[in-house]
Amino acid sequence: MNVSLKHLSEKFKKIKYLTKLEQIPQLTEKEREEMQKVNDRFVFRTNDYYQSLIDWKDPNDPIKRIIMPDVEELNEWGELDASNEEKYTKVHGLEHKYTSTALLLVNEVCAAYCRFCFRKRLFMNENDEVTKDISEGLEYIKNNKEINNVLLTGGDPLVLSTSKFGKPIIQKLREIEHVKIIRIGTKVPAFNPFRILNDPSLLEMFRKYSTNEKKIY
Ligand code: SF4
Repeated sequence: MNVSLKHLSEKFKKIKYLTKLEQIPQLTEKEREEMQKVNDRFVFRTNDYYQSLIDWKDPNDPIKRIIMPDVEELNEWGELDASNEEKYTKVHGLEHKYTSTALLLVNEVCAAYCRFCFRKRLFMNENDEVTKDISEGLEYIKNNKEINNVLLTGGDPLVLSTSKFGKPIIQKLREIEHVKIIRIGTKVPAFNPFRILNDPSLLEMFRKYSTNEKKIY
């Protein structure tokens, strides 16, 4: 690890999540008021590392636009379930749209929330589509032998601790013979790379369960 990465790794060893606009000192009072209207409907979440990447002098800073609420989110258009995922939900927390692929929604939290997220409905209080209990989903996959790859998603699976992610999810999937590929849908490398860099047990788990015949991506 080079010196500056090591320094950053130390600095953000314990990442601080920010969920209130009052925690963002760069905002003007007016901006905060406007954004609060959005936040009342669509939850805001970021962290001190990702915030440190924003160039606040640039009004169109792309990182800021990904993460900071925008009043245009309140324009009424389209559906909250933009991909009609309800139609493909077969059991609690499992979607099966394409023959060989199943999605397991294992976590409703992300390391930060993208304003453009097509699943932002999952982060609303009344939503119950995600479940940490994947037993029904595993049973469905076992009974549908055409499923040879499973995408772990949510929310972000890598926000879970390795102890909640490794044995209870990855190992259980590896026990199903016809599942060849496990994919992890994550934005943790961008939002909080130190989650990976500072956790040797996560890398160990990948080494154990990703083989030439059965890979984890
Ligand atoms: S990381 Fe993915 S699931 Fe989470 S808010 Fe961003 S796009 Fe949505």
